[in-house]
Amino acid sequence: MSSEGKEVSPQGKFGAPIAGRLEAEPKEPAVTTSVTTPAGRPADGGVEHLDVLIVGAGLSGVGAAWRLRREHPGRSFAILEARAAIGGTWDLFRYPGVRSDSDMFTLSYPFRPWRGEHSIATGESIRDYIRDTAVETGIEPSIRFRTRVVDASWSSEDARWTVRTEVADADGTTAPRTYTCAFLFLCTGYYSYDHGHQPEFGGREDFAGRFVHPQFWPEDLDHAGKRVVVIGSGATAVTLVPAMARTAAHVTMLQRSPSYLAALPGRDEFADRIRRRLPANLAHRLIRAKNVLFSQAFYQLARRRPTQVKKALRDLALKFLEPAVVDEHFTPTYEPWDQRLCLAPDGDFYRAITGDRASVVTRRIDRFVENGIRLDSGEVLEADVVVSATGLDLLAFGGMELTVDGRRVDPGDTVAYRGLMLGGVPNLAFSIGYVNASWTLRSDLAARYVCRLLGHMDRHGWAVAVPTPEDVGTRRPLLDLTSGYALRGAGRFPKQGGRGPWTVRSNYPAELLSLPRADLRQDMAFGPRPPARLVEPVGVTA
Ligand SMILES: Cc1cc2nc3c(=O)[nH]c(=O)nc-3n(C[C@H](O)[C@H](O)[C@H](O)COP(=O)(O)OP(=O)(O)OC[C@H]3O[C@@H](n4cnc5c(N)ncnc54)[C@H](O)[C@@H]3O)c2cc1C
Repeated sequence: MSSEGKEVSPQGKFGAPIAGRLEAEPKEPAVTTSVTTPAGRPADGGVEHLDVLIVGAGLSGVGAAWRLRREHPGRSFAILEARAAIGGTWDLFRYPGVRSDSDMFTLSYPFRPWRGEHSIATGESIRDYIRDTAVETGIEPSIRFRTRVVDASWSSEDARWTVRTEVADADGTTAPRTYTCAFLFLCTGYYSYDHGHQPEFGGREDFAGRFVHPQFWPEDLDHAGKRVVVIGSGATAVTLVPAMARTAAHVTMLQRSPSYLAALPGRDEFADRIRRRLPANLAHRLIRAKNVLFSQAFYQLARRRPTQVKKALRDLALKFLEPAVVDEHFTPTYEPWDQRLCLAPDGDFYRAITGDRASVVTRRIDRFVENGIRLDSGEVLEADVVVSATGLDLLAFGGMELTVDGRRVDPGDTVAYRGLMLGGVPNLAFSIGYVNASWTLRSDLAARYVCRLLGHMDRHGWAVAVPTPEDVGTRRPLLDLTSGYALRGAGRFPKQGGRGPWTVRSNYPAELLSLPRADLRQDMAFGPRPPARLVEPVGVTA
């Protein structure tokens, strides 16, 4: 049922208020550019208005800006970025060996071929790729660095967002700065940049060595010749162990329970061959298509025939390890893809633990002691360095507070529309990647959807678009995984519904076909521009 043209009550059904009166017929001709302050910063430091504000200059934000500029060259936009650098995740994480665990042909943008040698790439090369994309496409000057969005409030009367930010100097002192925009696009990732997930470990203060979290790797940490314990069994732990074992005296991965590990080739020979023979753009498209189909087929097989996939993963592990080791440390109790699957390129992790520089222990921690960690078995793992690879602290929308007509929006109470807008929240989209495929595949679909929606609004003269939840079906988590971090953070994130545009399909090929053709009017209400006095230039009201 389309709600376009319907008048909706000011209070949305799902807690969040929705735009006031939304009507059927456009009252004014289509608009494509800002009707307020022209793009550019007001000289007096007042409120700056832009057609679109993107928050976050990571993989998603830079990609969204590229799409927006291409599809809507007349629209003014800026990217507000809390940090002093481009790249988000790939600039923040600096632990030894940091790398992707999905292939770069799908993690890179469809519009800019991945030219790197390896399909599983280092964090540094991904950061360079994102930064080079922003520089080469001319997006970089639109980024307002050191600008943290504190809150955003929607006014239905003005049909615009007011976005309050804190701008930090190089020395860390902050000054407030306010923007307004017609459309807000949140590309803020999914976790807190300020802290990682840190469980309470009894006796931690007794430990005499260094204790580090991978999210904040100390530049001065030299682990050469040291005894290292890495707590955790996720992608970060699996990456850290072989990387640190190159120079450490010994690295022990201490896990509470086993995870699945896929030992796959680190180099994509098909990609190497194709790239030698075909023009870069065509090769990129072909390799991307191959990888999308392969990873989706593997995911579907894992969900439908878990026994077969468990056996295949076990067989891969048995190429490197004894059966007893696989049984004890690499045979999880959950099904493949209940949690994100970890990758060991060329079996690097398995190779490391077959040598004498690395090992795995599957036990619970009793407490920290002066010289290491005491296990529930009573044994002490001696350590000079303990790395707490215990994961991320999930955070929706970069921690900013959202209000709609004065009412606070609690992200955990909202329902996501097509996994990219929020029920009852006008002119706002967000970017969240797939859990079972490369992030960029979904974030690019989201950016394309936003551009399409803006085009539809232009054509019909609408200024407001708000998803109107009526019957969304049974709610469930947006990030559909049983991993600790996903379960811990589920309450803080929007939910998805159980029907129609309120669900997210963890299936890129299906969404690639459906989302660009989806009915923009389904469960969406549109509204006209506000009266003329509200679109007079601003810029002096700070
Ligand atoms: C260690 C690690 C490895 C990963 N490996 C993979 C992988 O192999 N494949 C994959 O698909 N995914 C992976 N991911 C997920 C990863 O986050 C995505 O690949 C992708 O980088 C997300 O991009 P993003 O731009 O959406 O978010 P981010 O990279 O998190 O960028 C968000 C940006 O928004 C900014 N921001 C946040 N809040 C605010 C605010 N209030 N005001 C202003 N700016 C703000 C941040 O400073 C940041 O620059 C990994 C994640 C981690 C942590």
